[in-house]
Amino acid sequence: MTGNVDFRSLVAAMAETIAANAERLTELDSAIGDGDHGANMKRGFEAVSGDLEQLAAKPFPEALKAAGMKLVMTVGGASGPLFGTFFMTLGKELTEETDRAGFVTAFEKAVDAVAARGKSRAGQKTMLDVLYPMLEAMKQGADPDAVAARAEAAAEATIPMLATRGRASFLGERSIGHMDPGAASVALLAGAVAQTLKSHEGA
Ligand code: ADP
Ligand code: MG
Repeated sequence: MTGNVDFRSLVAAMAETIAANAERLTELDSAIGDGDHGANMKRGFEAVSGDLEQLAAKPFPEALKAAGMKLVMTVGGASGPLFGTFFMTLGKELTEETDRAGFVTAFEKAVDAVAARGKSRAGQKTMLDVLYPMLEAMKQGADPDAVAARAEAAAEATIPMLATRGRASFLGERSIGHMDPGAASVALLAGAVAQTLKSHEGA
């Protein structure tokens, strides 16, 4: 699935969309959290970008693992270890020869690892409420654009949800009516990946 796209372009696209939307992510986190999510994500993806040459020299799965470790160390908050776990697990499960079906299996393991790490599950108004719908879309054979569209819709669908995990859960009913910031980040990353894959199509 990533056979003809390089790690550099993917990271650059992810870092760019996070930087461009950091303020919005922070606003979302100010409404139902502590207002640091945009800064957390921006710092993390800037750190990964800063190591890009070193990371890109590694085989794709190793590069993903190392990027995940970097995110754990630099994003901080509750989301850092979760995003880090996602990329580390994805890297661990992929090989350079992984085909589409293998990618979906690896993605599933990565999402499950996030759930295990967060002691969380779908329906609690977290990033998992975007990751699981993306997984479902992939299992149904959706292309990256359709997966990103599903992610976007899933992030929107966190608005009416009641948070029962993470900082937003401290607000109880007052968490209802706002998009979950971690869910918004995942949708942004999905969009960036889809754009990158599209622009490399046939390359
Ligand atoms: P913090 O909450 O420590 O300030 P961030 O603001 O960076 O960390 O990230 C908040 C996001 O992390 C939430 O919007 C949510 O999507 C995600 N999150 C928090 N706790 C969990 C958890 N236990 N499981 C899954 N996702 C979580
Ligand atoms: Mg926060």
